[in-house]
Amino acid sequence: MTPFEAASFFFHQSADRLGLADEKREVLASSYRELAVQVPLRMDDGRLAVYRGYRVQHNGARGPYKGGIRYHESADLDEVRALAALMTWKNALIDVPFGGAKGGVQCEPGVLSVSELERLTRRFTAMISYIIGVNRDIPAPDMGTNAQTMAWMMDAYGQRYGYTPGIVTGKPVELGGSPGREEATGRGVVICAREAAKRLGKQFRDATMIIQGFGNVGYWAAKLASEAGAKVVAVSDVVGGAYNPYGLDIDALMGHLQDELSVTSYSGAGAVENDELLELDCDILVPAAIQGVIHSGNADRIKAGFVVEAANGPTSPVADLALQERGIHIVPDILANAGGVTVSYFEWVQNIQQFRWDLDQVNFELKKRMTKATQQVFARAEEQSTSLRDAAFDLAVERVARAAEIRGYF
Ligand code: NAD
Repeated sequence: MTPFEAASFFFHQSADRLGLADEKREVLASSYRELAVQVPLRMDDGRLAVYRGYRVQHNGARGPYKGGIRYHESADLDEVRALAALMTWKNALIDVPFGGAKGGVQCEPGVLSVSELERLTRRFTAMISYIIGVNRDIPAPDMGTNAQTMAWMMDAYGQRYGYTPGIVTGKPVELGGSPGREEATGRGVVICAREAAKRLGKQFRDATMIIQGFGNVGYWAAKLASEAGAKVVAVSDVVGGAYNPYGLDIDALMGHLQDELSVTSYSGAGAVENDELLELDCDILVPAAIQGVIHSGNADRIKAGFVVEAANGPTSPVADLALQERGIHIVPDILANAGGVTVSYFEWVQNIQQFRWDLDQVNFELKKRMTKATQQVFARAEEQSTSLRDAAFDLAVERVARAAEIRGYF
């Protein structure tokens, strides 16, 4: 099953439960616009490499398109299309006034130099600049991109259209970024995990946690969960994982990465393979890297108390069902990782108003929205006796369908 087929599966199940007419279903199931561009890049050694880039706008019924830009070797049109659709449902669920979009360049950012990354970003921005805009489509960081990437995007767009800080979110604070945006997705994951633990009658304090992925989302989730009293026993990156049953010192592990490329060589833990890590005993499992890592081949070996999906699409539909049958609750991606787009919304609002919020206000508003959405999802799941994912999709699809109806899309 491709990433888009997996994302569509959950949508169609929801459309069935909601009794959505076929013609409306067709509008919501497919993208509004898909732009595929050629991104030629002059490499430092003089060679010309040609990459493929994409921007997919899935649905704009509830507001301007919004979603991150991914630099990864797997970022093809199908993957970007799936992620764009997930953004539509996520933005509706967390109730920010945005539609859903996603972008990507199919490349290996780790092997490109900083100047190659800058040229690639500026070229890609120029190629998609015709369809983005402060009130049309606002990119943000995702896997393989960061605040620096957004600074280049903002500058490249500004060279064409004039100074426009609200064209991207997740910018450096010095350029109009919001305090708290960098850690927002990880912070949202922890708010959601704590609320979910409460609802499931489990302890968060001293709960053992395993996190796959130690990038922006994984690192901040690990750090903030440790500070909130959970015991993070394992984390990993693309190379492999670090496991210490007594708990990892997250700051020390981050310090280790100043000189080393992977968590696997950290002396305060034993090494573990990425696949093995997912199957270790723990109270809370947090996939925070790529899609499709919990699948039919390993679902029956997952031993976590519950799963919090920090990554987009980490659980395949077959695994989703298998875990449900074994009583392992999954807090779905469109809820668990919505903290990033929530603070992106705050950043966009601040840019439009040219007025800076302080960190306390950002974190207060983030907690309010994440908690409210989590409570709504749990209440809906209880009311209709479905999984948390089904409840989250039903709430989101209902809201988008309603907006599309009122606007006259149908
Ligand atoms: P990142 O690039 O900062 O970090 C990704 C991490 O995953 C790195 O540690 C990398 O080594 C690891 N990784 C990559 N491929 C892997 C593999 N095959 N197996 C195991 N680990 C692997 O990315 P990020 O921004 O932290 O995003 C992580 C996930 O969270 C993605 O699914 C992304 O879509 C999702 N997400 C990110 C944000 C955000 O604000 N950055 C918001 C919502 C959702």
